[in-house]
Amino acid sequence: MPTFTPLGTASAVPAHGRHLSAALLTHRGRHVLFDCGEGTQYRLRTADISTSRIDVIAITHLHGDHCYGLPGLLSSMAMHQRTHPLVCIGPPELATWLRATPGASPDDLPFACMLRITSPPPASTTVWRSPDAWIEARALEHRVPVMGYRWATRTRAGQLDAERARTLGVTHPPDFGRLKAGRAVTLDDGTHVRPEQVLGPPRPGVSCSYVTDTRPCAGSRALASRADLVYHDATFADDHAARAHETGHSTASQAAQTAREAGAKHLLLGHLSARYENWTSLEAEARRIHPNTDGAVEMQSYRVGAR
Ligand SMILES: [Zn+2]
Ligand SMILES: [Zn+2]
Repeated sequence: MPTFTPLGTASAVPAHGRHLSAALLTHRGRHVLFDCGEGTQYRLRTADISTSRIDVIAITHLHGDHCYGLPGLLSSMAMHQRTHPLVCIGPPELATWLRATPGASPDDLPFACMLRITSPPPASTTVWRSPDAWIEARALEHRVPVMGYRWATRTRAGQLDAERARTLGVTHPPDFGRLKAGRAVTLDDGTHVRPEQVLGPPRPGVSCSYVTDTRPCAGSRALASRADLVYHDATFADDHAARAHETGHSTASQAAQTAREAGAKHLLLGHLSARYENWTSLEAEARRIHPNTDGAVEMQSYRVGAR
């Protein structure tokens, strides 16, 4: 089961023990890092995460609280003699900034650091894919160009009913593998066994969206659409809705409204303003709209698809 672990949930400045924006999506022992605020490498160390197992870093925008940890993390990866390639996704300003930073420029690093630079796309754009998962990006609405991300896994074949396969005469171990992979097999006596005879229903993929910093917008709704877990900008409570709009952020209620309209299953509120000591009042406001909502707790691993 994939997990999502917020490493930093603070907005703008560290406050009340909260750290700057970063979150880790973990699937089959590999990681995607969303944002990399200052100090993220310390947070990864506290979470006992090996940085060599990070395959992708996806930066939402070039406000310092979301990216100032990146040069430090990249140079530490170099010092740890990383050889595994790394994909860094972000808006165009990311490339300019990294190339101007001694020690963090992709040309200075001893491993392949592949920049996937894209202007925040208004429509869904796939920015990374692996054999079993992919990441799509969409433009959000903030004071500077910003992208939200949605990580998703593919639908998998149903579970193999090995007992049923044996009853149909399957005995060779490789035939079980073929059936599991959705291929038909021919037995020694010429009988055909089709995968649909021995496989359960297809298992749908799961998805996790990282949506910050943003006002409510078409991009945030699309990224949250039917997602299993959505981490959403919830910088302010209702009484600061005007301030949220002015600064390009969302209130907890607006995050909940987006999640409800999008049919998202579990909402995690994130990017909390330093004016609040904790999530209590914002959670209460959001749960009136989307009951399955929690204020994100740093270092807590949330299952993607468990609820
Ligand atoms: Zn921010
Ligand atoms: Zn920002």
